[in-house]
Amino acid sequence: MSLPEVVAHLRALEAEAGREAGSAKLVAVTKGQTLESIERHVLAHGTYPLGEGRAQELRDKAAERPASQYPGWEWHYIGPLQRNKIKYLRPVTLVHAIEAVWQAEAIAEAAQKWGHAPDLLLQLHNGEEQKHGVPADELAETLKSVRETGLTVRGLMVMAPEFGEDLTQAETETRILRLFTDTARHAHDLGLSELSMGMSGDYPLAVRAGATLVRVGRSLFT
Ligand SMILES: *Cc1c(COP(=O)(O)O)cnc(C)c1O
Repeated sequence: MSLPEVVAHLRALEAEAGREAGSAKLVAVTKGQTLESIERHVLAHGTYPLGEGRAQELRDKAAERPASQYPGWEWHYIGPLQRNKIKYLRPVTLVHAIEAVWQAEAIAEAAQKWGHAPDLLLQLHNGEEQKHGVPADELAETLKSVRETGLTVRGLMVMAPEFGEDLTQAETETRILRLFTDTARHAHDLGLSELSMGMSGDYPLAVRAGATLVRVGRSLFT
């Protein structure tokens, strides 16, 4: 696929789900891609937030292409956050995967120096083997503490686990859809509107469940 095909597919999926056109926004996941490839496969088609998952890679790309050179150019950070890498997130406008209060505190502290702060999403634990994310029953408390840093929390993020090969395709899709629907319900209960869900393999389910930010990588570059 190409970016225009993915975007057309998103519009069709929104219509199918009875959602407003453009309510499921593409985040172009660019980790592992060169700037040249990003320009050819993403920016040639318009401006989309670029999702990076490795902090040093983000730093290097942002240094070579400051956002100011491209009107509307925005970096999102979608990867796990380590303390010593937070300094590289200066160009980022949205951090998708906050899973601990200390991460928000460290970002708030760095933001004092930067003179601007990114908004945040909390990553929901996906209930499987994955080590990342806030368990559902700790979301409200974590949200409260994260907000005490003064940063803005806009929503939730979740990543579907690998369900393994003993499940049929239909069973896997049912489980992913349930995870996405549960995430949407938690966000709604917390009064949060942004939902970052879906990857190349499962974004149709994410749109069905109400994703507002859809993180697609591989499909844009093949
Ligand atoms: C890499 C990545 C994606 C995109 O995955 P693709 O399979 O390349 O579409 C989405 N979300 C996160 C958190 C990622 O790390």
